Amino acid sequence: MEMHHHLRDQLKKLKMPGLYQALDMRLAESRTNNLGHLEFLSLLIQDELVNREDNMLSKRLKAAGFGVQKSFEDFDFRFNEEALPAGVLRDLATCHFLEQKQNLVIGGPPGIGKTHAAKAIGHEAARRGHQVLFRSTQKLLAEMQADSSQRAERILRRAVAVDLLILDDFAFRKLDQREAELLYMLAEERVGRASTVLTSNRPPEDWYAVFPDPVVGGAILDRLVSSAIKIISTKGRSYRREGQEAEKQTSGGKRP
Ligand code: ADP
Ligand code: MG
Repeated sequence: MEMHHHLRDQLKKLKMPGLYQALDMRLAESRTNNLGHLEFLSLLIQDELVNREDNMLSKRLKAAGFGVQKSFEDFDFRFNEEALPAGVLRDLATCHFLEQKQNLVIGGPPGIGKTHAAKAIGHEAARRGHQVLFRSTQKLLAEMQADSSQRAERILRRAVAVDLLILDDFAFRKLDQREAELLYMLAEERVGRASTVLTSNRPPEDWYAVFPDPVVGGAILDRLVSSAIKIISTKGRSYRREGQEAEKQTSGGKRP
């Protein structure tokens, strides 16, 4: 027991809580299964690593600012298969497009699952160790102009630097000159360096109209959209309207 306490204090100093938490369980296991010293040690180190990875993932998810988190585990791939093809989504979930620094545009009517899909892709990216930032476009633009210039500077730097930036509800309303400049800066800094995902209820051809200056608008869209992977549909069922009803009736029509 004395030994145990001593070890606990040492592990605390070494900041190895995962190892400490697993210690009793692994001791019991090693007695029952007659584990060798090396095997026992290796299991404990593994426990510590898993614990650290979990903590880092929680941090990345929190920093992403998803609000309500959504993942592909709670996504029904069959619900809008036409608008959001399962094969394309599964491919995006591998985050290969992130390594290629490609952008992604998800466009279509409200309620079809665009934000859900974008958050789920963000979740996968965080699981793979990427830094993610999720914001509605309007909110991010407002934050980048916060009264506290320090706060504005901080979010601006993150928006430029993260591995994956998700701009939800892009081209939702008309932008002013300053907002267009900020978007241009983001688009210019990120193009070819890191992926940006845009979701929008409007089709990309309508996006030009939200910019105060067509030249700046064209330059932004050229960087964000022209070589992006595009999932654009004009139709789609609203999960808000239909999906939740169907779910009540079948008590869980979802599929992993
Ligand atoms: P959009 O961004 O296209 O307007 P959302 O992604 O916000 O739509 O979806 C609306 C609601 O329906 C959300 O709560 C979302 O989690 C849910 N939802 C949409 N599509 C699906 C789906 N295929 N499977 C499970 N839930 C879905
Ligand atoms: Mg949405």
